[in-house]
Amino acid sequence: QCKNQFEKNLAFYNESIGEQVSNEIAIANEMQTALDEKQFVVYLQPKFTVATDSICGAEALVRWKHPQKGLISPGVFVPVFEKNGFIAKLDYYVWERTCQLLRKWLDDGRKPYPVSVNISRISLYNPNLVKLLKDLVEKYNLCAGLLQLEVTESAYMSNTELMEKTIHDLRGSGFTILMDDFGSGYSSLNTLKSIEVDILKIDMKFLSADGEMEKGEIILASIIRMANWLGMSVTVEGVESRKQRDFLEGVGCDSIQGYYYSRPVPEGEYEETYIYADGGAALHSQKTEETS
Ligand code: C2E
Ligand code: MG
Ligand code: MG
Ligand code: MG
Repeated sequence: QCKNQFEKNLAFYNESIGEQVSNEIAIANEMQTALDEKQFVVYLQPKFTVATDSICGAEALVRWKHPQKGLISPGVFVPVFEKNGFIAKLDYYVWERTCQLLRKWLDDGRKPYPVSVNISRISLYNPNLVKLLKDLVEKYNLCAGLLQLEVTESAYMSNTELMEKTIHDLRGSGFTILMDDFGSGYSSLNTLKSIEVDILKIDMKFLSADGEMEKGEIILASIIRMANWLGMSVTVEGVESRKQRDFLEGVGCDSIQGYYYSRPVPEGEYEETYIYADGGAALHSQKTEETS
């Protein structure tokens, strides 16, 4: 009976690993086709200046519009693509799509708020990254400041020297660097000493997880204060409630990205709501808007 149970467990074990592997192979086989057939789509999640509750930018987030499985979230396929290297191609695809959108908004005489894109660890380690990005914004005749770059702390930590040089060169070329998911993984305070980033992105989710909102709030407030002293601004993501927003306003958080303001939305919806809306700022009316 004991052996029976063991075999049963083993069978279950093998099955789940086998399933996982075949799943990964299936995804790997499908991804190039998916890219060619434009099944990867960009969603945009707006970011808001806390003090004014007004939009100040967006983040581009990829989704896979699978013909059979429907909309698949990046949490499912990005880890697989990171393992098999395909993420570099997908990253580039999202960067280019973002540049196309920015170019279109400019051509239409609209004010394009900067859009940040995610740079996976593999892309970050590409020795050609700086040139790749410079060529891309040149191709679409954009100023580098419009395409903001999100790097994660964990990617940064694994080869600090190389990352420091890459990020230095990117900033030298006019790109704005955001550190994504700050404080949620590897230890962070030491990174703050050497990094040259413009904006820290802190995930609100890591605070409420342990239920110790009081301690969490103190830590968050201190990080914001520290970041400001170090010349960085702070975006808090994952903000879902009015209470969280008000707290963040009180402790000097610059901007917020979260469901409280908006979920990530398809390109078209983002454009309609924020770029082409009646109240949306046309490029030439920027001055009046600022002085009024
Ligand atoms: P991320 O870059 O940290 O993006 C923020 C994630 O938080 C997004 O998940 C967003 O939908 C979610 N989020 C925003 N506000 C809230 C909120 O108020 N509550 C909750 N519960 N969640 C919120 P998403 O779109 O599923 O993306 C997950 C991750 O996938 C991203 O985390 C990023 O690491 C990765 N990813 C997405 N697009 C790309 C890409 O083009 N390239 C690479 N390399 N990674 C990507
Ligand atoms: Mg991000
Ligand atoms: Mg993040
Ligand atoms: Mg993340």
